[in-house]
Amino acid sequence: MEKIIKNKVILEILDKYRQIWALGHLGGLANWDLSVYMPEDGAGARVEALAKLSTLMQKLFLDRDFVELIKKAENEKDLDDSEKAILRTLKRALKHYQKLPAEFIEEFSKVTSEGQIAWQNAKKESNFSIFEPYLEKIVELSIKKAEYLGYREHPYDALLDEFEEELTVKDVEKYFNKIKTPLINLIGYVKNSKKFRKDHKIEKEKYDVLKMTEFNKKMLEFMHYNMKNIRMDVSSHPFSICIGKGDSRITTRYEGKDFARTFSSVIHEYGHALYELQSNEELYYTPIAGGNSLVIHESQSRFWENFIGKSKEFINLMYNNLLIAEPNLKKYSNQDIYEYFNLVRPSLIRVDADEITYHLHIMIRFEIEKELIEGKIKVKDLPKIWSDRYEKYLGVRPENDKEGVLQDVHWSQGCIGYFPTYSMGTSLSAMWKYYLEKELGNIEELLKQKDGIRKIQNWLKKNIHQYGSTYVYRDITKKSLGEDFNPDYLLKYLEKKYKGIY
Ligand code: MG
Repeated sequence: MEKIIKNKVILEILDKYRQIWALGHLGGLANWDLSVYMPEDGAGARVEALAKLSTLMQKLFLDRDFVELIKKAENEKDLDDSEKAILRTLKRALKHYQKLPAEFIEEFSKVTSEGQIAWQNAKKESNFSIFEPYLEKIVELSIKKAEYLGYREHPYDALLDEFEEELTVKDVEKYFNKIKTPLINLIGYVKNSKKFRKDHKIEKEKYDVLKMTEFNKKMLEFMHYNMKNIRMDVSSHPFSICIGKGDSRITTRYEGKDFARTFSSVIHEYGHALYELQSNEELYYTPIAGGNSLVIHESQSRFWENFIGKSKEFINLMYNNLLIAEPNLKKYSNQDIYEYFNLVRPSLIRVDADEITYHLHIMIRFEIEKELIEGKIKVKDLPKIWSDRYEKYLGVRPENDKEGVLQDVHWSQGCIGYFPTYSMGTSLSAMWKYYLEKELGNIEELLKQKDGIRKIQNWLKKNIHQYGSTYVYRDITKKSLGEDFNPDYLLKYLEKKYKGIY
């Protein structure tokens, strides 16, 4: 295969970058271990080590020779797309490290580590006041962070950009303004349908964890997973992480009932892992290996979770294996399981939300974060504000903090500006679906073919995965689909699917 990275200065940069890469690699492993295997009492020391590791990475980034090389590369002509992307990504990281003082990074890391523990306790006790002082500090530091990083129009722009390159308040508002009313109307349609129900019997059916683990492995086998480059473990919050070349890891959880939750998380995380595994090998030791864009990444996980995992044909294919894992399901038909997977109902918990209401959960968080950063609302009033918004947009009201304002881990981790990428990534996935089907035919039909999954994976590789983080989400849609990011595809898909079910 022809080398795609040829420029001498870029190659020199990558040679030096390998030290930073190595620290990131080991940091990733330590983080994975923290969430999956290590004894609880060791967490304090691990958090301390990881905080020091991030200051060490900052030092390597700010190394004079390294900065000089990056400056030198800026004058290079005829860089190709991946070389330009390497430079762009490094300049971005450099800007972050140059603008945020080391003391600030350390303080932020300390407050968020303590904040996560406080949040866990607060959630356990369902008592927001335990977390409140930490969140107050986190919001205060986030405002400070925005000032350090700088922004053109809105301080929240600086925070959004930390998670999604160039994303602004304007973009997100434009996006939500477009989808809000159609989604609220569609929810209204579903609620007025005779078929509307608030729960499904299958949710109560218990399963055996070992048998369900076997089932999940069979599902991965069906999707051609290779045990040599991916492993699956258990953690309280499912996640996926690529440690390095040929080493992707996903996790799931087992509640012992309501199997759609473990099923969906496996297929979702596999979608993330596949992106990393199918990215061009030559990019593996560079800063553009795999996916940096959360919008693009989520477009991959959602693609598999919603369009494959929740499709009729996939349920047909998995049905017999499912009965082995959970014999109680014998009394239900494929159609019952399909309806159970695609149940639409306004609910309190984001991670359990259906494909339609999900976006309103995100919109509420976006509105609240923006107003917090603007200083329009106060942390101490959040439980009430949260509940009022849920009542306004979804018609449901939490009875306690645990199922309300305390449900997500993100704020305790200092991730303010992250949520919009979940919704926008899901919208992007609908664009991939449309264009993939235009080229290869209907997904349900593809699943009937012996090499259907392969065809889908190859299409995703060709149009998205191979590039790693070469392009930001706006540019990759333009390049691969010839069109700008557009949430109409999501709206059309949801309308067609759910007017069929309800
Ligand atoms: Mg995800």
